[in-house]
Amino acid sequence: MRRMDFTMGEAASGLRGELRRLIAAEVPEGFLGAFTDDPADLAVAQRFCGVLAEHGLLCAAWPERFGGRGSSVWEQTVVREEMWAQHEPRGAQYMGVNWVGPTIMRHGTERQQREHLPPIARGEVIWCQGFSEPDSGSDLASLRTAARRDGDGWQISGQKIWTSYATMAQWCFLLARTSAGGRKQQGLTVFLLPMEAPGIVVRPIRSMLGPHHLNEVFFDGVRATEADVLGRVDEGWSVVQEVLAFERVGIARYARCERLLQAAPEVLAERWETMPAPLRTRWARMLTRARRARLLAYQVIAAQSTGTVAPADTAAYRIAVTRLDQESAALLTELAAHVPDEQGARRRFRRAVDDHWRYANAATVASGSIEMQQILLARSLLGGVRRAGEAA
Ligand SMILES: Cc1cc2nc3c(=O)[nH]c(=O)nc-3n(C[C@H](O)[C@H](O)[C@H](O)COP(=O)(O)OP(=O)(O)OC[C@H]3O[C@@H](n4cnc5c(N)ncnc54)[C@H](O)[C@@H]3O)c2cc1C
Repeated sequence: MRRMDFTMGEAASGLRGELRRLIAAEVPEGFLGAFTDDPADLAVAQRFCGVLAEHGLLCAAWPERFGGRGSSVWEQTVVREEMWAQHEPRGAQYMGVNWVGPTIMRHGTERQQREHLPPIARGEVIWCQGFSEPDSGSDLASLRTAARRDGDGWQISGQKIWTSYATMAQWCFLLARTSAGGRKQQGLTVFLLPMEAPGIVVRPIRSMLGPHHLNEVFFDGVRATEADVLGRVDEGWSVVQEVLAFERVGIARYARCERLLQAAPEVLAERWETMPAPLRTRWARMLTRARRARLLAYQVIAAQSTGTVAPADTAAYRIAVTRLDQESAALLTELAAHVPDEQGARRRFRRAVDDHWRYANAATVASGSIEMQQILLARSLLGGVRRAGEAA
């Protein structure tokens, strides 16, 4: 059993207050994320990223030389919690902040760091992640988008799918095959490509997440050079493993669950006391689960910050938090049915629950399906049992 210290400290709680004041001042009440039918919501997110950047809060955990303020991982955790609880007013930019930037810091050349990190830290740029393909999702290493040697560079052709925010992104963090023959995890390379490069075509996929979320991206002879390669050629798989570890704890899903669960009795007011007792019992249990998921997240973050995180830790957290997301969404939907359809706080609550339900349904697929997380966890636990048996 690991010993944990979950005290976040005064700086973190001060930061929470600062973020709540900024959100109250800059984000309209009832905001449901940047990707709705209303273009004003995207504009809110773009503007808000600039405000966060001015306060040094967009990339708070980054070192100062890259445009951050060297905050602790706990302060960055507070930022994630407050943002997700309020339907992510950073819009698509959380990806650049959470995993694109940190990965470029670890693997990028000086030139790549100079080119990419300051615009992310200023909140000026949106990235998309070009990993999944029509026949390669869970089995990502089987991907077929090919980068073929062409003089001193490569020509890239193939298709990506489910690419979030590709219509609005300026850059793509692309995984492509540069050689074949060995294990399928070998011969993959990460490219940092501008979305305006000739040969890239984006086609939106309409979904319940709104009109701007998911896309197909086609690459037809797109030209890349050595300068566009992140890390080493043919060794992109290890970079991607890091990306996925950052990404899988990047969204503080428990924070929105907890906020909405806590809001329910307030919004229901006097009706709350007359609600069926079993429903209120389920509500209390769900709130406890949200707090357990929060503690699990803190355990993973603590392990990440000391470089001792194991894939099983992130898998266990993701299984817990994505289930919490879906089961809390189902319960909140039942509770919301008792909320009168009135304007103001009650209407905002019903709409927020509806939005939470739609996103929660995608949670067990996005960033790797829950079944694959279960397999990863089982392998790791059973491997441990076998090793203990062998030792005995
Ligand atoms: C909201 C959302 C946003 C996304 N954004 C991005 C993005 O920005 N960039 C990107 O690259 N991708 C993105 N994805 C894609 C996501 O990473 C994939 O959908 C996911 O990895 C699953 O792959 P798949 O859809 O091909 O399903 P498949 O891999 O075909 O899986 C289908 C089903 O079979 C199950 N399954 C598959 N293999 C096994 C196995 N060996 N054992 C047991 N069960 C198995 C899976 O668990 C799943 O239930 C996004 C997805 C969603 C939902």
